[in-house]
Parts: sequence; structure tokens; C-alpha cells
Amino acid sequence: MTISAPVNRIIPFSNVDGPSNRMAIFFQECMFNCRFCHNPETINMCINCGACVKTCPVKALSIVDGKVVWDKSICVGCDTCIKTCQNNSSPKITWMSVDEVLEEIKKVSPYITGITLSGGECTIRKDFIIKLFPKVKEMGLTALLDSNGSLDFEENKEILEYCDGVMLDVKAYNKEFSDWLIRYPNEVILKNLEYLLKVNKLYEVRTIIFPDRDKDNEETVTYVSNIIKDKCFYKIIRYRQFGVRDEERKVLGDFTTDEEYALKYVKLAKQLGATKAYLI
Ligand code: SF4
Ligand code: SF4
Repeated sequence: MTISAPVNRIIPFSNVDGPSNRMAIFFQECMFNCRFCHNPETINMCINCGACVKTCPVKALSIVDGKVVWDKSICVGCDTCIKTCQNNSSPKITWMSVDEVLEEIKKVSPYITGITLSGGECTIRKDFIIKLFPKVKEMGLTALLDSNGSLDFEENKEILEYCDGVMLDVKAYNKEFSDWLIRYPNEVILKNLEYLLKVNKLYEVRTIIFPDRDKDNEETVTYVSNIIKDKCFYKIIRYRQFGVRDEERKVLGDFTTDEEYALKYVKLAKQLGATKAYLI
């Protein structure tokens, strides 16, 4: 049986989704619903309600047999459909087979060092990844996963066999803060932090610094730093309001975390031994 995955977007050349120049492939669907999500249209699969079909200015969307069909050839990329959707979805999804994704990679393979699978949450497509990664490695490219940490990697070791590393989000250490922030339990994420480090598959950890959340920021940065020490990169990220849903911006803040404030946590991480901590 041919395995396919819903691809939201492919960026052929990215220098922010892992080391060096790489292709970033974003899958649709995530089980979290993070308040600060910058691409909330990747959270849910389309339920074919048809609302966006009516608002597309160039009629690139239609309903065929009860399903939304996107005509990429006439789409002008205005994102009116995304703004219309009340379901945190996108009608601009392409179901692609492993071979189709490999064809896209081959087009740019001489110019990239690897690929990064992102989302949404890429590990939802575990079976697809297990088929794709060995072929990516055969092409001489590195293969990274950008993950929210929801998949128990110890229980699913096979996904790591051809994976060079995981870029892991550790958004919150405190359970109550995590439940509120990402609307999902964090036990498996914290377990993954230790497991991926143990098996040498942790490329980097990312934590967002929120404005005026001293206790929560400090707890998470302290916990992560004490575990990772100097063994992987620690990307400390300023919360930015851009792309965040209106209702969430009202809660989290309609502004970017102050740089000086966020730098305090980089300093803290380094003091605790996470020498590869840096701010973005
Ligand atoms: S981005 Fe969406 S609304 Fe805009 S042209 Fe494309 S399909 Fe239509
Ligand atoms: S993308 Fe959203 S608005 Fe469009 S059909 Fe799907 S669920 Fe409805």
C-alpha cells in the first residue's frame, strides 16, 4: 500500500529549520493547540465545511464529491481562505507519496545539506517518515525531525534509526502551565528530553520566553539546562505576537518579549551549564 502524508508546504531552501541550507517540509495536523502558535492553520485537518470556497477571490477552491479541492495553478496565495477558516485548517493541502516527496527533494539536492520535517506535528506521520528517511540518507543528506515531543521516542525507536537528530520543543516544565499553554500533557515531552539525549539524537531544544512569566520561564529554562548541559543547542526564543490568533494575543500579549528580559534566561541557562544556549 502506498503511504502518503498531507503536506501543507515545502520550503526548498531554509536556513532557519536546522543547520545550513535545507529543505523544510511541513505536514498538516497537530494534536496540540498552543496559544502562541504562529501557523494555526496547520493544526487540524479540513472538515470540508466549504466556507473558504465562497471567499476565494479567484475561484481556486471548489467542492467535488463533498471534498474541498484546491487548484494550485490559479491560486494567487492571498490566504483569504486561511483567514476565513474557523477550524484552524487549510484547504491548500497536497497528499504526497514518499516517491513524490523524494522527487521534490531531488530537484534541489545538490544545493542543500539535508531536510527537516516539521508541521503541524511531523511524527503523526511516523510510518511515512520510516519509509522516507532511509532514502534521504541514500542521497547523502541529513534528516532531522522538528517535533513537539508528543511521540514517545523510546516506544517508537524505529523512527530514529535513520534520523540524524530531533529539534525538540520543551515549552513548559510546570504541568499546570503546560496544560494551559499547549492544551496537552507534557510528561512524554519531558521523558523524550532525557531519552533523546541518552541516545545522542537531540540536535536542539527550544523554549519560548513569555512576557511577565518569570516563574514559568525560570522553571522551564532551569529544568532543561540542568539536563542538557553542553550536549546540544538550546534555542531560547522571544515570544512574538506575529501570526498568533487574535484571541490568544489578548491573553499572551500583543507585543514581543523584551530582548533584555529574554537575555536573562540565556544567561541563566549558561550559568547552569547549557553553554550552547542562544537567543533568537
Ligand atoms: S490563497 Fe486561498 S483564497 Fe487565496 S487564491 Fe489561493 S486558495 Fe484562493
Ligand atoms: S479549510 Fe477550513 S473553511 Fe475551508 S473547507 Fe476546510 S474547514 Fe472549511
